[in-house]
Amino acid sequence: MNWWDRYYIIDAHAHICPRDDLFGVSMTADELRRLMRRYNYSKCIIMSRDNALVARAVRGSRDLLAHVWVNPKDDRCIETLRTYLKKEGFIGIKLHPLFDGYLPYQQIVYPVAAIAEEFDVPIQFHCGHPPFSLPWSFEPLAREFPKVKMILIHMGHGHIVYINGAIEVAERNPNIYLETSGMPMHTKIKEAVERVGRDRVLYGDDIPCGYPSWELEKVKAANLKEDDLRRVLGENAKKLYNLE
Ligand SMILES: [Zn+2]
Repeated sequence: MNWWDRYYIIDAHAHICPRDDLFGVSMTADELRRLMRRYNYSKCIIMSRDNALVARAVRGSRDLLAHVWVNPKDDRCIETLRTYLKKEGFIGIKLHPLFDGYLPYQQIVYPVAAIAEEFDVPIQFHCGHPPFSLPWSFEPLAREFPKVKMILIHMGHGHIVYINGAIEVAERNPNIYLETSGMPMHTKIKEAVERVGRDRVLYGDDIPCGYPSWELEKVKAANLKEDDLRRVLGENAKKLYNLE
């Protein structure tokens, strides 16, 4: 028995994807489910640029849930959002300002945030790299759409100034949540729980760029109170996404 077997775990951020040369990774739904069994994950929230691939994986499943990935610059962005949120039952939106080259506070993002508000679903944003995904650049959007919950994936990623920035921005804006994957400092998970709030930090591992064993150990090393560890590993995501 491993320590994580005692917890209800939701991985808030993972991917299935064909071979990706930039990161040198790939992941099928079956491979993902094998990892989920090994690490006692109850649910995994997945996303990919290929929304149709994700839709096939999550259709009729209880363990895999999905975010629809869009580029606000794409002419069919709104149509794609409506299709996957309405017809395929996806539970959130994924935006990657860094890859797609826009700032989160630009007007082109507003219609996406309006759809998030209409469907009452969160947006996950890649966060932690200049010039397009620094934590402070999410604040104007969060203020413009206070009802939309926004999750800063990687909570600043590998740079201490950006990690501190993500914590500061979330502390000031009650609709901003932080996700732990790829961020190297266990101490900052504890700080986030204390400063931002025990309900607004979510566990994620960014499979296949990240891996469950060390992402889980990082959260454990944060030495949270038992109840807070339980929340970060699964209860917070369960509540945020209204899951049973
Ligand atoms: Zn990711």
